[in-house]
Amino acid sequence: MIKLKSAEQIEQMKVAGALSKTALRRVGAMVRPGVSTFELDQLAEQIIRMHGGTPAFKGYGGFPGTVCASVNEAVVHGIPNPDVILRDGDVISIDTGAIVDGWVGDNAWTFFCGTPSPEVRTLCEITRDCLKAGIEAAVPGNRIGDIGHAVQQLAESNGYGVLRDYVGHGVGRAMHEEPNVPNYGKPGRGVRLEPGMVIAIEPMITLGSPRVEVGSDGWIVTTRDHQPAAHYENTIAITLDGPVILTADDQGPWCSMEGGAL
Ligand code: MG
Repeated sequence: MIKLKSAEQIEQMKVAGALSKTALRRVGAMVRPGVSTFELDQLAEQIIRMHGGTPAFKGYGGFPGTVCASVNEAVVHGIPNPDVILRDGDVISIDTGAIVDGWVGDNAWTFFCGTPSPEVRTLCEITRDCLKAGIEAAVPGNRIGDIGHAVQQLAESNGYGVLRDYVGHGVGRAMHEEPNVPNYGKPGRGVRLEPGMVIAIEPMITLGSPRVEVGSDGWIVTTRDHQPAAHYENTIAITLDGPVILTADDQGPWCSMEGGAL
């Protein structure tokens, strides 16, 4: 069942969303060669708890981290690790969420560590644009398939792969609510979008084949062809006035890929 949120509840969700974005932005500022993904995780947890929130991911299904830190061919769900040290040219998806007053915010950006290759830079820029296109399709009267189609069309027209095995989702008091929000689909198909729906749109786009596998830790999702991937995510509310990004704070851009820059 899809749980619609009132205008007042959406305002409450903005608090959790803002803290999620603040954590993401500040962790991104720490991305640089020599930093471990565990250090990034520690900073995210400190920021979230310092502001009275609770890490949404920690303990979720047994996940041990506050962030998912997924480097290069890892797409999503990388476990933070003191032995995973970032190097110049790496690209890292950081996904994090905070719970405030029982409401969840969920967001992810992919950051450059140092200088990326031109092809990885373009992959990230197009994946960010896929998220933007998905958000713009999230208006009342459209359907879930319109969001997926917008993402898929932009990604595949650039020659990229769109993951099929992992999708976006509804967000509320639980991190994963109905409906599923795939990054592929047909216009006019699927659940009709209504004011009060809150969803996480999260394109997961690969430079090569979209085929993925889960690692031996039971979490990390990597491309089978070991080509890099990008991942951007916002939690948004569907309203009569259009899509509202809930994972927003009053500092910095709505989305960034420049590690160490914010
Ligand atoms: Mg998510």
